[in-house]
Amino acid sequence: MKFMKWIRVEKEKDVTLNFKLINFIMPNIVYIPFFETDQLKIKFADKVKKGQILFERTDNFTMSPVSGKVCGFMPIDILKRKNQPAVAIDNDLQERVLNTQTTLKKITQYTSLEVLEILEKYKIRDLTGASTLLNLNDLSEKKLLIIKAFADDPYTYNYEKVLDVYLNELLECLNALKIIFKIPKVVIIVKKRYELINKKVLSKIGMYPELNLKIWPDYYGLEQEMFLKTKYPQAFILDLNNVLVLYNILKKKKITTKKIISVTSLEEKKIKLVNVKLNTKMIEVINKCFKDVKIADVIVNGVIKGQKVDPTNMIIDEDIESITLLKIKRKKEDNCINCGACSKVCPYNFDPKYKMYNREICQNCQLCNYVCPAKINLIGEEK
Ligand code: SF4
Ligand code: SF4
Repeated sequence: MKFMKWIRVEKEKDVTLNFKLINFIMPNIVYIPFFETDQLKIKFADKVKKGQILFERTDNFTMSPVSGKVCGFMPIDILKRKNQPAVAIDNDLQERVLNTQTTLKKITQYTSLEVLEILEKYKIRDLTGASTLLNLNDLSEKKLLIIKAFADDPYTYNYEKVLDVYLNELLECLNALKIIFKIPKVVIIVKKRYELINKKVLSKIGMYPELNLKIWPDYYGLEQEMFLKTKYPQAFILDLNNVLVLYNILKKKKITTKKIISVTSLEEKKIKLVNVKLNTKMIEVINKCFKDVKIADVIVNGVIKGQKVDPTNMIIDEDIESITLLKIKRKKEDNCINCGACSKVCPYNFDPKYKMYNREICQNCQLCNYVCPAKINLIGEEK
């Protein structure tokens, strides 16, 4: 897949990035969704520990991200489904962990088979939104490991913050994976836009001569799976967040229960970065970042390719990367003013206003929808 022309997404005008990390890892209540067919391992008023299995299904299970007491059952919204049944756990803020009695060892001491067995045992989810388990089965057959450490959408700086906070751990883990799976080359790909972090990575990566950094231009569309796979057909592609999850499980035998996300208010013109406990209600995270902000529309996972959600009953799960609070409500549909912006921005020179695009070639990049001043839904799902 190759775009006919590359689109540079405009830098966030008048919006300032506050790079300091806000911690919101002690919510009073967390909500853990389950499927109707799941076997529940807990009941009302049970005390649970962090890492305890709450629900089981044929090929997977769900563990508790906190310790506390089961305080109710109710429907909640997740990105992929509304009204999902969930258990609410009253967080005792103690983080009491289930005693698993494991011996910790250096990551490099694992064999590839042991790593695969650990992944199988803990059923680690792939954090690329693919709804599949993290699978490194054919990693040892690859000559190249690519780490995607960037996002395309504006206002999304969580990858930069993950690099900033966990750089040593990430490099240690990547170096270990390289040794364990005998991969000849490992490349971390970042975008040019946040030079301070790129410099920090460059200064540390020198300690690992086998690891490489590639700085890509700030074009839109580079993070699409299709693009990466076409560019590196022989590579194993791993998301940076997955590397962190791997580090936690291999080095500390800990499941990952928090995540760094970007939260932006276009009303206040600020981007904030939050370390949030998974399964926290989204509205609490928004209120923590922007008190008394007028909430119009809320878009998750990017203003260009993301989707509109109602944050009141939605939780932050592994699929959420960013939250953007729009200044004004998006109108559903208006009249086309024939400005031509949609065809100008399309990487394939289609004219989406006349539905003149080839569905097989269109990458659903959503740029046409994004630039349309009339907010007409030209393609894809309604936002
Ligand atoms: S989504 Fe719109 S801008 Fe993107 S390729 Fe398709 S028609 Fe073009
Ligand atoms: S960007 Fe929107 S308003 Fe402008 S020509 Fe395309 S459909 Fe019409």
